[in-house]
Amino acid sequence: AEGAVAGPVRSTCPYCGVGCGVLLSPDGAGGVTVKGDPDHPANMGRLCSKGSALGETVGLGHRLMKPRVGGVDTDWDETLQLVADRFRETVEAHGPDSVAFYVSGQLLSEDYYVANKLMKGFIGSANIDTNSRLCMASTVAGHKRAFGTDTVPQTYEDIEEADLVVLVGSNLAWCHPVLYQRLIAARKAKGTRLIVIDPRRTASCDGADLHLMLEPGSDVALFNHLFAALYENGMLDAAYLPNTSGFNATLASATSDDVSVTGLDPRDIDRFCRMWMGTEKVVTIFSQGVNQSSSGTDKVNAILNCHLATGRIGKPGCGPLSVTGQPNAMGGREVGGLANMLACHLDLENCDHRSAVRNFWEAPHAPDKAGLKAVDMFSAVGDGRIKALWIIHTNPAVSMPDADRVRDAIRDCPFTVVSDITDRTDTARLADVILPATAWAEKDGTVTNSDRTISRQRAVLPAPGEARPDWAIVAEVGQRMGWEAAFDYDSALEIFREYATLSGIAGRFGKDFDISGLSQLDAEGYDRMRPVRWPVTATREGGRFFADGQFFHPDGRARLVPVTWRAPATRTEPRYPFRLNTGRVRDQWHTMTRTALSPRLAAHLAEPFLEIHPEDARVLGIGAADLVEAESPHGQAILRARITDAVQPGQVFAPMHWTGETAPAARIDAVVAPVVDPVSGQPESKASVVKLTRM
Ligand code: SF4
Repeated sequence: AEGAVAGPVRSTCPYCGVGCGVLLSPDGAGGVTVKGDPDHPANMGRLCSKGSALGETVGLGHRLMKPRVGGVDTDWDETLQLVADRFRETVEAHGPDSVAFYVSGQLLSEDYYVANKLMKGFIGSANIDTNSRLCMASTVAGHKRAFGTDTVPQTYEDIEEADLVVLVGSNLAWCHPVLYQRLIAARKAKGTRLIVIDPRRTASCDGADLHLMLEPGSDVALFNHLFAALYENGMLDAAYLPNTSGFNATLASATSDDVSVTGLDPRDIDRFCRMWMGTEKVVTIFSQGVNQSSSGTDKVNAILNCHLATGRIGKPGCGPLSVTGQPNAMGGREVGGLANMLACHLDLENCDHRSAVRNFWEAPHAPDKAGLKAVDMFSAVGDGRIKALWIIHTNPAVSMPDADRVRDAIRDCPFTVVSDITDRTDTARLADVILPATAWAEKDGTVTNSDRTISRQRAVLPAPGEARPDWAIVAEVGQRMGWEAAFDYDSALEIFREYATLSGIAGRFGKDFDISGLSQLDAEGYDRMRPVRWPVTATREGGRFFADGQFFHPDGRARLVPVTWRAPATRTEPRYPFRLNTGRVRDQWHTMTRTALSPRLAAHLAEPFLEIHPEDARVLGIGAADLVEAESPHGQAILRARITDAVQPGQVFAPMHWTGETAPAARIDAVVAPVVDPVSGQPESKASVVKLTRM
């Protein structure tokens, strides 16, 4: 199924976690036309600017066609043997924890599954982490604390069912545009009200009923205040509360927190609480402004506490909905692609779960301790504990916090392999070995979007040059390391069936992720597979979780988690007086390896910029379009000033996309501090401190 296909083919957009369906028609000249799939439940034919420009990004001018070692083209046999030998020798000499994989939410679930199996079951380390650590690890940790599993209770249909939607730390209009289109359509049709909670005024605030421009990182105090108000006004759900535990401690935390740290007008806080309390059908959508924080997990739980204590969860139009950044961040969570998880939502710390996975894989190992999470992993690369590193479809030399130090660590690592579709990334240029992988329109497999819908991605173009699917590359390295039978796969379908079968074991342990109903798919069934929301078992397909009050902790109850506000980890001071927020722009994606190929996407915002409040610009003598250096204790970036009251005084915003390839002086993550949430390990990418100098 990796060859050329004629005619329209149903596939999935490779950008954000909305997971829109697309209809792809090859033009016969190596290109492809793209339309929204009217039958896909995520988008029902809609596409955003990025999705509709996908056809402009499939050219081959930038593609890597052959394996390369030390900058010289070579062949697959020699290269794969080198990779297998170096990883095996490193493990033999220094132990399994001396190697690591850093992977990506761009991978398909089948790719992800094989990489996770190789590292955890056969190499014997849990040192596999993913760029999803930068995206939604705090949500995973918050879900697990509250529910006992990483379960998204709601669906996209709840946006249409809700009477009030609260966006927290989410510029849905730019970052998940098709969901925003669905929200706007619902507002027009039935008057759904909208509250935006964000320190910055974004496109998502246009026409909102209320915008709470709170101090960065103060969300916990705001939701604690809401929790206390719900209690004081008799708005808790006495019938639902017995399905939870931890109420008294949570109420004590909530009532002792000080909402004034939000910096909000008390009248706006009161209005927020009254709108929330006065509406039964509330959906709270949250994203990176919640997750990318040193208190990200607590923020998630502060939101979940309010939904749980009022029984506003798992019902039509009623509950919390996290939206992921990447197309398959959810699939990565499901296959166990994070360093602290096993496959299929099974727990690394649980010896029965470990044994079950190990037995299923007939594997020599099942690590009993978490591996290194992303920031710690690159620290270990830098100090020499990691001696062989395989980076797959991600660009950490640009996207990790403290990016200069990460870049130097990768450069100095004794053996670094990069799998990618191009060698023109900051990270690929540092690698000893570069492996050519197939790209979006050339590969087969599955992805899971933010509301648990599994969709097929289908190949419509032939693999160029010698590019291979990621699962095939990883599996062959596994075979050459000595585990031939375990990695003897002929197709993505074989992997999917194995994965679906394993999920049935998770289901027997009472876990939520069970797609065993798909484990018998034949080639035709996999080929024709329609989008389906998990769980998929013999008796159940899709739906919502938790309306029945049943959770996945051993006692079946949810946990209300007492949390209290903490300031961001780095503090402004006279030398670094500004708070730096980073994020996306509408028409770029990640480090631009694909979107920069489209002229019309590049035309939206053509160069990196720094938003500065007019009052701060006046004091610093900065004019519109001046070049400004933003400097932190970790690094510098030079950006074009945009003077706007969309940011508050004392705060600045810069986009995350530009790289050493596209704007060498403007790598904003070189400035971002490598501080993390202590529970989730997710970096605080939205609250570093900087000083500004006009150039
Ligand atoms: Fe692609 Fe996301 Fe746009 Fe949908 S909303 S077309 S998934 S980028």
